[in-house]
Amino acid sequence: MKIAFIGLGNMGSPMAHNLLKSGHSVTVYDLSQRAVQLMTDAGAKSASSPRAAVSDAECVITMLPASAHVRSVLEGPEGVLAGIQPGVTIIDSSTIDPASVREFASLANARGNTFVDAPVSGGTGGAAAGTLTFMVGGNSAVVAKVRPVLEAMGKNIVHCGDVGTGQVAKICNNLVLGITMAGVSEAMALGVALGIDPKTLGGIMNTSTGRCWSSDTYNPYPGVIDTAPASKGYAGGFGTDLMLKDLGLATDAARSVSQPVFMGETAQKLYQTSSQNGNGRLDFSAVIKLYQLEALANVS
Ligand code: NAD
Repeated sequence: MKIAFIGLGNMGSPMAHNLLKSGHSVTVYDLSQRAVQLMTDAGAKSASSPRAAVSDAECVITMLPASAHVRSVLEGPEGVLAGIQPGVTIIDSSTIDPASVREFASLANARGNTFVDAPVSGGTGGAAAGTLTFMVGGNSAVVAKVRPVLEAMGKNIVHCGDVGTGQVAKICNNLVLGITMAGVSEAMALGVALGIDPKTLGGIMNTSTGRCWSSDTYNPYPGVIDTAPASKGYAGGFGTDLMLKDLGLATDAARSVSQPVFMGETAQKLYQTSSQNGNGRLDFSAVIKLYQLEALANVS
């Protein structure tokens, strides 16, 4: 299938590689020339704008930081909607708010196109291994049509309901993730301050009831999990600013239905402080740096 892929960051790049590996013809677009070059070296075609990238595409995938980026790629004279053929489905895998998704779906529908939200879980490791979970919102027939494309990048493809419900699932999952990472950070920092070896404590947690993805895959304490961002200077992985964005999506969505998010709001403050301390582009597990005494003074 001819696929246009827009947004070649930590997630988009390995996802697009997996489409190539599955035999799809992939045309890419990104603001970063380096990211584009790495994909063309691997066999993709490049385009000079989103509009040019989608001109003969049978499916379009966007994997961008936030709603404003998706809007700028879709709209305008050089945008996706200006160049897409009728009947083609747009799959947005970015994590954005459900209300924007519904608006983008209406814009696509008005031009004779279909739209599904398909945010992912599984991190950069899952993106590279092709084992992502896709949480998909959209019409059943459209979801069935795009399923083989998603299967080239993921292992679990879950149809959550109408357009927007994929994002509902995603922001609730990341609400848990933001809270558990802050919790594991707090416990690891406390344990070390009280004198236990971090690897021993991490090992105990991971065979006990404290075990979770934040402890057994992305443990925030350096050296506990060799493959975790914490053991590589917090590079790569899932950026602090992206987690901050997702907690903002969760707390905003909660407000829209008068639902309390006690722990989500506390977690949001922690990642906000971590970002203000200059860690916005580091993996979100760098939140553990707040538990150094001098940084704790910044938490309100
Ligand atoms: P990233 O910041 O690494 O990559 C974003 C890419 O989009 C960059 O290459 C950037 O150049 C490109 N871009 C931005 N604006 C653009 C534009 N107008 N036109 C073309 N390209 C543009 O982000 P990421 O980590 O790949 O995350 C992408 C999305 O996936 C986010 O919504 C994030 O919340 C979500 N997500 C990330 C992870 C993770 O572990 N990193 C996991 C699950 C979901």
